Amino acid sequence: MTKPILELNAFGAGSTAVLGDALAAAIARRTRLFGAASVLFYDEPLEFVHGEGCWLYDAAGTAYLDAYNNVPSVGHCHPRVVDAVTRQLSRLNVHNRYLHPGIMEYAERLLASMPPDLSNIAFTCTGSESNDLALRLASSFSGGDGVIVTAAAYHGNTSRVTEVSPSSYKRGMPPPHVRVIPAPDSSAAFAADVAAAIADLADHGVKFSALIVDSIFSSDGVFADPPGFLRAAVDVVHRARGLFIADEVQPGFGRTGTALWGFQRHGVHPDIVTLGKPMGNGYPIGAAITRPQILDGFCRKVGYFNTFGGSPVAAAAGLAVLDVLREDGLLENAVTVGGRLKEGLAALSRRHAVIGDVRGAGLYLGVELVENDAGTPAAQLATAVINDLRKRRILIGAAGRFGNVLKLRPPLCFSAANADLVIAALDEVLTHASRPTPASRAPRP
Ligand code: PMP
Repeated sequence: MTKPILELNAFGAGSTAVLGDALAAAIARRTRLFGAASVLFYDEPLEFVHGEGCWLYDAAGTAYLDAYNNVPSVGHCHPRVVDAVTRQLSRLNVHNRYLHPGIMEYAERLLASMPPDLSNIAFTCTGSESNDLALRLASSFSGGDGVIVTAAAYHGNTSRVTEVSPSSYKRGMPPPHVRVIPAPDSSAAFAADVAAAIADLADHGVKFSALIVDSIFSSDGVFADPPGFLRAAVDVVHRARGLFIADEVQPGFGRTGTALWGFQRHGVHPDIVTLGKPMGNGYPIGAAITRPQILDGFCRKVGYFNTFGGSPVAAAAGLAVLDVLREDGLLENAVTVGGRLKEGLAALSRRHAVIGDVRGAGLYLGVELVENDAGTPAAQLATAVINDLRKRRILIGAAGRFGNVLKLRPPLCFSAANADLVIAALDEVLTHASRPTPASRAPRP
């Protein structure tokens, strides 16, 4: 059974007894307000007041190294993005049914980075909205609604997108039009799994519409290599007249280092590309990009408008992010610092038997923790390691079906010195700790 994504590295309400009065009171207040939907990270939740570059600061001024957050992907509060947003916000911010040069310049720059036939863009505010639109576009174009997803995929929170996000299910099965296939741990089997799922949909009278994947398979536990392994699966999809949706919410905007987009690393040609998270460095903006033919058919039936999508301020944030990525050399940085981090983690794996695998590309890395040579997932250990690193003021997260993969996904301005700090701290934690704390075993409400 897949561990629900919201339970990974989550604070357990049973553990407030070990916390100080002020923190316990803040947590109680939050729980009162947000009820069962309140999710916090870590056994000892954190409250931050300021961010800068790769660092987050609490009210006492204590600095935490952020090796987790990809939304502020060019760095927390990057002055160039802050300045662009502030200037545009004080001049004009309105929905996009008026002409505005900023949003057109931004659309042109994004589309110039895509395969030429993907020449239309619809702006949204979140990755969920982008994927919701992508699924609707795919259904409209294909005339079917059969969708294939990976076992611990997460694609967002709308009703339609939750159906194709197995990592969100706390109980129950995927709906009849969704087929769930294993994450590409053995990448050779992936195309065959896609073919089998298409055949199974047909056997059950469901017309195939789309395969949707996050090309770094982040919630599945980070599967990046070998580059190109997606090609055979995408060929299978196209032969079956289905669409391939590349969810770039995680790998997009330079995260994998060698290319702006994760699908480029695999040399595949999507029919729809969806964007979100890092796109505005914290300003909410997303998009779905596709061929005019796909969008035209959909717009003849319902059309699409998103009040806040593609506002002048959103465009200003997005343009500033593209500028900073280039001017600060952040793709190159993802290659060099990501490479250094990966090598350091691989070196740790030779000394700590609990590290079963180190995977990833650029500044998106997964460290799989196992209990034995058979690869039994060490999920409790992963939770303990994450909390021990947090005590050492280093922030990482968890991923994977069983929550046993450490997820390292820092802002792209992460430095070599930052990477060395993470490696040294993880070395210490794996040497000393390995015992889950009582709090991390506490049940969630
Ligand atoms: N797709 C992927 C791969 C994601 O990881 C996420 C968010 N974690 C989403 C889509 C949804 O994005 P949002 O939360 O901004 O709606």
